[in-house]
Formats: sequence, C-alpha cells, structure tokens
Amino acid sequence: MLKETGRKMRKNLTDRFYAKEELTIAERKEIGAGDIRLNRAKCKKCGDIITSDHRHDFKSCKCGAISVDGGSWYFRRCGESENIEEMSEYYKNIKDDRL
Ligand SMILES: [Zn+2]
Repeated sequence: MLKETGRKMRKNLTDRFYAKEELTIAERKEIGAGDIRLNRAKCKKCGDIITSDHRHDFKSCKCGAISVDGGSWYFRRCGESENIEEMSEYYKNIKDDRL
C-alpha cells in the first residue's frame, strides 16, 4: 500500500519535471533531479530547439549540427559552439542545497 502511494507520488513529480513551476529541494530529492531545470539549446543552423529530459537523454537537432545530454544533472554539448545558443535554466533555489 505504502509502496504504491510512493510510486504514484514519484510519477506525479516526474510529470512536473521541466514544467514551468519550480520544484522544491525536497521534491527534487524525491525524484532524483539535480540543479538544472531546463537543459536546452537551440541550433543556430536549423533553428531546432532540443531538450535533454533526463541524465541519459542524448538528443540531436534535425540537421545534426548540435546535441544535448545530461538532463537535470550536467550540461553535455556536441557540435561547434558557434552553432549553439544556450537556453538552459537552473532551479532558483540551488544555493539552499549547499547549506
Ligand atoms: Zn541543427
């Protein structure tokens, strides 16, 4: 019973991941999310906007010039930096995490 509730809660929180609203530190801990709210870049060549939704979500733009990876944990970029327009955002409350 308790396990079931936990799973349901986890799913609801995961659905909210990358929503516009902020997640609290406790909520991020619950779903295993890091400090990055939006891991996103725009390809200046084709205009495609790509988002890495989780740690091992490697995505490329439609022309293949750039790729993003790392989800909420780290920024991994492939491609020439001149083709990459950063659109990433951190959670607002990352400083509190280190207290
Ligand atoms: Zn492209």
